[in-house]
Amino acid sequence: MAEALSFDVLIIGGGPVGGLLATVLAQAGVTVAVVEAASPEALARPDSDARAIAVAYSAQKLIRASGAWEQMAPEAGAILEIRVTDAGSPLCLHYDHQDIGDEPLGWIVPNPAIRRAVTARLVAAPAARLFAPTRLKRLERLAGRVEAELEDGRILRASLVVGADGRGSKTRQAAGLGLVRRDYRVSGIVCTIEHAERHHGIAHERFLPGGPFAILPLAGQCSGIVWTEANAVAAAICGQDDDAFRAELAAKIGGFLGDITLVGPRFHHPLTLQFVNEMISHRLALVGDAAHGMHPIAGQGMNMGIRDVAALAEVIVDARRLGLDPGTPQVLERYQRWRRFDNLLMLGLTDGLDRLFSNGIEPLRLARRLGLATVDRLDHTKRFFMRHAMGVVGDLPRLLKGERL
Ligand SMILES: Cc1cc2nc3c(=O)[nH]c(=O)nc-3n(C[C@H](O)[C@H](O)[C@H](O)COP(=O)(O)OP(=O)(O)OC[C@H]3O[C@@H](n4cnc5c(N)ncnc54)[C@H](O)[C@@H]3O)c2cc1C
Repeated sequence: MAEALSFDVLIIGGGPVGGLLATVLAQAGVTVAVVEAASPEALARPDSDARAIAVAYSAQKLIRASGAWEQMAPEAGAILEIRVTDAGSPLCLHYDHQDIGDEPLGWIVPNPAIRRAVTARLVAAPAARLFAPTRLKRLERLAGRVEAELEDGRILRASLVVGADGRGSKTRQAAGLGLVRRDYRVSGIVCTIEHAERHHGIAHERFLPGGPFAILPLAGQCSGIVWTEANAVAAAICGQDDDAFRAELAAKIGGFLGDITLVGPRFHHPLTLQFVNEMISHRLALVGDAAHGMHPIAGQGMNMGIRDVAALAEVIVDARRLGLDPGTPQVLERYQRWRRFDNLLMLGLTDGLDRLFSNGIEPLRLARRLGLATVDRLDHTKRFFMRHAMGVVGDLPRLLKGERL
């Protein structure tokens, strides 16, 4: 039998959330092994994904602390304003960053740029080791440690295993953690466009009969598109040739960005809501999409995962400073208490927004249009929503406040 390699923490999944957790822990002196199914080259490929991720103000502080921001910054566009409208109604909700200060409301970053930058920092951290591409053949959670066997027979030991392996998490399934799930029966078409006119840092969210349609400002004269339609319609739209797809998209956008050109491939993602009943189990914790998946209507899925990272990293590092084992129930329960309410609140909010805006009943349509216009006039309420979207409300872990771990 191969000699076992020992670490403090074993992370399954080296996506944005698992990669950031590994990096911030390793930078604080915690030894970490990351087991990732894809190769580092596949993780970094620019055409692997077309999601443009809205990174909230507080999440960016953690990315910055990990050292990954500098590499992704040239591809990031600052969000200076957000305009929310409902199916052609002239009533609109308008957020302007200047209403609450000088800082942007957030940034739009291509997902491949995030993955590339995070993987680079992870590989550079001396206390972290990436095992990729590979998977686990066996995972045992024993009384005093966890033990895993890789496909090639290597044995890894740690005090704690963290499942960061996305929506279909095998770690979650193997631990028998129950899941609540709702299928929205819609898909989000994502692609990147280049346009003749400047976007001025304005993000547009339009609630259309097929579902939300978002135009998100990337660096330069590029924007990310998230276009929601019923599953079959989305597949048909995506399957058209480039010219037909471009023409349909241009009509949907309207002329305000001038001529548009498609950049890279397009994808469609089926949208579901899902969350685990428990984020922890014996010597195990879940983070990111492995624990919760939400409608992208408010652009918060990865941000919630980054908030998980900040809280879990803090409870692990605090435990070690006190000489405690980070895999014990007291430590993991502190993590779950910290994250459960915030995650459920955001899951409820995104689900509620989807139910409200996907409903075509006339009185409800009228009520939500008036609701948008009313919130727009209530400075206090508007500022509260803006601060919430920026991720600066609640009991924030140190890394989200820009403090050292
Ligand atoms: C259309 C759309 C738009 C979105 N827009 C936004 C947005 O604007 N803002 C926002 O915050 N969020 C957004 N999201 C959500 C965001 O994309 C996810 O929350 C985020 O990517 C989750 O990251 P993760 O690291 O948890 O999971 P993933 O990105 O899924 O990474 C999981 C990793 O685990 C690896 N893996 C899987 N199984 C195994 C295994 N058995 N062994 C080893 N490795 C494994 C995978 O290869 C992968 O690298 C959007 C989602 C969609 C669908």
